Amino acid sequence: MRLQRKLERQARSMGARFFGVADLTVAREAIVAQGGEFLATYPRALAVGIALSDGIVDQLPRHKEVVVARTYDRLYDTVNRFLDRIALRLSVTLNGQGFRTLLIPASDKIDDENLVSLFSHKLAARLAGLGWIGPSCLLVTPEVGPRVRWVTVLTDAPLEAGGPLSELCGDCQRCVKACPPQAFTGRPFDPDEPREARFDVHRCQEYRIHLRDEVTGVRTCGMCVYVCPYGHKEAPA
Ligand code: SF4
Ligand code: SF4
Repeated sequence: MRLQRKLERQARSMGARFFGVADLTVAREAIVAQGGEFLATYPRALAVGIALSDGIVDQLPRHKEVVVARTYDRLYDTVNRFLDRIALRLSVTLNGQGFRTLLIPASDKIDDENLVSLFSHKLAARLAGLGWIGPSCLLVTPEVGPRVRWVTVLTDAPLEAGGPLSELCGDCQRCVKACPPQAFTGRPFDPDEPREARFDVHRCQEYRIHLRDEVTGVRTCGMCVYVCPYGHKEAPA
């Protein structure tokens, strides 16, 4: 479809490595439960991702060093700003064609304590077929693992949606073992289970607040992002 190709071209020309379209109608219940009924009026989502720089992610085992932690923190903010600009561009294009849109910013928590946003970028990327959810609760792409930041544009444009990928973690549990406060249970992703079955968000938060207040001045950890073999271009063990 011409409009879809135009949107993809626009996203890629602004630095996006990942672009896909998700059919949200299959996840209506979960979307309404997280963000409210008004979100369910959008049957499609554009999922757009920018890959994080390996030169910085590869340093994350040294995340207790100020220079590493702060460099990653800056990268994270910069990528989020870029993603929001791409989403705005796509949104303007869709609006110009007469379609409704709702832009979900790259980093916009409605509940900071529990790390919950209005809408899950990972849900859109998963339904668009760009990756799967690992036991780390991160969206894992075959190309660069979880080394990606995402943004989402909800729309009523009748775009052609992708289909979900199979989960390819196999027996790997590296993210589970690498998490300093042991925040993951190791259970594989199941869309019918709450996140708490896999992830103790408070352990992650406490550890990162400790890093901010007593170690580096920022809440950078990212070991679950760093360690995934798909980010190292390896097959998981
Ligand atoms: S960011 Fe660090 S503490 Fe939080 S879940 Fe990932 S590895 Fe664990
Ligand atoms: S580290 Fe292993 S288990 Fe965790 S998301 Fe990556 S492949 Fe899956």
